[in-house]
Amino acid sequence: MDHMADFIATMPKAELHLHIEGTVAAAKVLELAERNGIDIPFSSEAELLAAQDYGQPALANFLKYHYMCTDVLRTGRDVYEITRDFLDRCVIENVRHVELSFDPQVHIKRGIAFDELIEALNKARRGSAVSTQLVMCMNRERSQDSALEMLDLAARHRADIVGVGLDSFEAGNPPVKFQEFYRRAREEGYRLTAHCDCDQENAVEHARQCIHVLGVERIDHGLHVLDDPQLIADVIERDITLTMCPTWRVSDPEPRRLPALRRMLDLGLRVCVNTDDPEEFASRYMVNTMTEVQRRGGFSAEEMTRFMRYAFEGAWLDDAQKAAFLTELDSHLARHLRTGKEPAA
Ligand SMILES: [Zn+2]
Repeated sequence: MDHMADFIATMPKAELHLHIEGTVAAAKVLELAERNGIDIPFSSEAELLAAQDYGQPALANFLKYHYMCTDVLRTGRDVYEITRDFLDRCVIENVRHVELSFDPQVHIKRGIAFDELIEALNKARRGSAVSTQLVMCMNRERSQDSALEMLDLAARHRADIVGVGLDSFEAGNPPVKFQEFYRRAREEGYRLTAHCDCDQENAVEHARQCIHVLGVERIDHGLHVLDDPQLIADVIERDITLTMCPTWRVSDPEPRRLPALRRMLDLGLRVCVNTDDPEEFASRYMVNTMTEVQRRGGFSAEEMTRFMRYAFEGAWLDDAQKAAFLTELDSHLARHLRTGKEPAA
């Protein structure tokens, strides 16, 4: 392993944009389909992996695949197993803190009750050395009333759920649709994020609504903030963290969004690198994603550390916890700069 790859592999990491439903490996999808007696249109890992080349429309095709994989999760045991496996992977990759999104509406619809879902997630979290927090994500194609019901169900798990988000089908489902949900969530003390997915219609307007109507502290993806100077100014003024996911599919020549990552760093935006749905993209987990982003994007060790600094700073941890992680991160960079030369860009 070269010096830079080793630096990335051993760097203390945080991930803020991760859907637990996107961590089901192809082999596990087949295993759970079998165990739960569910018909899926794939009979081998190779077929599942081939289907990960989503084509166009990218988000809709991706979501179709994603929900097929989510559909094999039918019990608390299933959720526990995939969460445990994911957190085991985090240990290997030195991911020290994860803010883990889950989609309760999807699970409830298929028979996993809200309480059972949280208990399964918590059981896996308790068994892991990784620091974790839960982010409850609403599917934006569903109604605000449904989202408000989730807030009611979440009340008795308030201590376990740090924040709320918004994901899934963005077209025709603008952030403003969830204004009351976000108002109530803020009032109840939840931290706020929302997806502004890439290449969606009205992307700039959606980002504007997230900031000025919902009052989010983070934007998941947030690529199109770059399309509007006022949004760039708003994001800087409000210290909003952009949780970008430079994921790629097998057919992509390199990590996506590299020029955007470069530009965001140069503008001083708080941008971090995340894997989104690691088993559903060829980019997979943090080490591989960051290693390729560094190589193909020509980012320095200091810049790779800056992505991670923004992740820890944007995490919904208390100041002491953040300071401890950041001290570790700074030492890691200092050690790297002391012991080796950076590869030529
Ligand atoms: Zn996402």
